[in-house]
Amino acid sequence: MPQLLILGSGTAGTMAANLLRDKLDEEWRITIVDRDDDHHYQPGYLFIPFWMDPKRVVRSRRAFLPDGVEMVQAEIERVDADAQSVKLGDGTELTYDWLIIASGSHPRPDLVPGVADGPLWRDTVHEFYSLEGTTALRDKLRTFEKGRLLVHVAEMPIKCPVAPLEFAFLVEDHFRRRGIRHLVDITYVTPLDGAFTKPIASRTFGDLLDDRSIRLAADFAVERVDNEASTLNSYDGRALPFDLLVTVPPHTGARFVIDSGLGDDMGFVPVDKHTLRSTEHERIFVLGDASNIPTSKAGSVAHFATELFIDNFLAAIEDRPLPNAFDGHANCFLETGRGKALLLDFNYDTEPLPGTFPLAGVGPMSLLRNTRANHLGKLAFEQIYWRMLLPGHRLPVPVKMSMSGKKSA
Ligand SMILES: Cc1cc2nc3c(=O)[nH]c(=O)nc-3n(C[C@H](O)[C@H](O)[C@H](O)COP(=O)(O)OP(=O)(O)OC[C@H]3O[C@@H](n4cnc5c(N)ncnc54)[C@H](O)[C@@H]3O)c2cc1C
Repeated sequence: MPQLLILGSGTAGTMAANLLRDKLDEEWRITIVDRDDDHHYQPGYLFIPFWMDPKRVVRSRRAFLPDGVEMVQAEIERVDADAQSVKLGDGTELTYDWLIIASGSHPRPDLVPGVADGPLWRDTVHEFYSLEGTTALRDKLRTFEKGRLLVHVAEMPIKCPVAPLEFAFLVEDHFRRRGIRHLVDITYVTPLDGAFTKPIASRTFGDLLDDRSIRLAADFAVERVDNEASTLNSYDGRALPFDLLVTVPPHTGARFVIDSGLGDDMGFVPVDKHTLRSTEHERIFVLGDASNIPTSKAGSVAHFATELFIDNFLAAIEDRPLPNAFDGHANCFLETGRGKALLLDFNYDTEPLPGTFPLAGVGPMSLLRNTRANHLGKLAFEQIYWRMLLPGHRLPVPVKMSMSGKKSA
């Protein structure tokens, strides 16, 4: 009986389990491993400080897995790629014929001195990239009346690279609606040389920061948080004072990836960026944030890549050439407050461009334009995620990026 093992039952692992159970013969045994039964809708973390009930982002993982997929609840400790086996925290060893690593990317506040190890942690130093963190930040914002707020990105890559900008816009709107905007000085602090990575989007977001009177501190290579002085310090000698710091910590791959020697410096597994097959081990594919592909770490990427991967996997197990090449397609909404959002659509080769999406000239969404329709699209995505994406139903958007509707700059 051939054995497929999937490590991680998050966005990518759950989708892959659903799509492959449908396609593989009954003789295939499919096992998926995760440490708990709580699937988190991570995009919801962004809204919890402002209005979303934290209970709304958590559902049972098992409820999204089809019959014929065995779920093992355990900590994954190590992969032995030569022996084709995986060691779990309870001492069990699982063997595989084929392995999918879908263990995601993980914020590591411990990697910046003075963040998680200082007395200001969860007092005036916060994050919103975990359920615990975003809930604590919600409580903090309720009592924050005035002062200097830094919204900070430690380094790239992070998952959902637009989320810190979204937070900056939403928190600005939050203070405006509370009537205390004039008492709060907001600075967006980034290691990039502008508001974002790609030039056209960077200009658009930079203008929006200006419009909202949010300062930009660019090229900021963080060294540490000084807990005594309440400053965020960079290697080039800058020390930004704060009354509230909201930081997005550096991200790494899963601990077991690092311990198994499967990752690069940051613990992301090197793969062929078009086939998502491990460059070292041909029986391993990597889906979602866990690989080193040069596109955004985002649920949309996990979705597009996983759909394209399915036919490649069916070819791989029959020793045929892999038919599909993933293009790095990412599709991200960017909430800007005041009931509006922008939308970005891009891939490895094409930066975000203006235009309409998904239909040329019709939309209903607009690319790189701040609209109500985009905001409604972002809100609708929550139900699309639970009802369509995770169970592996096809969405009416192109899996590969299309130039239709886009205007070259
Ligand atoms: C604040 C925020 C906002 C976001 N907004 C968006 C958005 O608007 N749009 C978008 O497309 N994406 C967004 N994302 C990103 C999106 O959530 C992730 O990119 C996506 O979930 C990645 O899927 P994945 O399957 O690779 O990883 P995950 O969904 O994180 O799943 C990885 C799984 O592996 C398991 N795992 C890891 N290590 C172990 C171990 N040792 N033992 C057992 N289990 C293990 C974890 O428990 C987890 O369930 C956002 C993320 C955040 C944090």
